[in-house]
Amino acid sequence: MFTCRNQACEAQWEPSDVVIKNEGQGLLFRCPMCGARNYVTRHKSPGGEITYEQVQDIPPYGKQ
Ligand SMILES: [Zn+2]
Repeated sequence: MFTCRNQACEAQWEPSDVVIKNEGQGLLFRCPMCGARNYVTRHKSPGGEITYEQVQDIPPYGKQ
């Protein structure tokens, strides 16, 4: 579960609700509600499953 880091929004999303892509500053998804950039890191399990973890401590590169 991801939580939008825009404090005026804080909507929660399942990974399947959002599109994760790389806009040049790392992997992120845009909140479907407010459009804020939310950064994630990708992890690959030993079984080959890809999971994403939201990054909480990244500077706000992309203000709206
Ligand atoms: Zn949002």
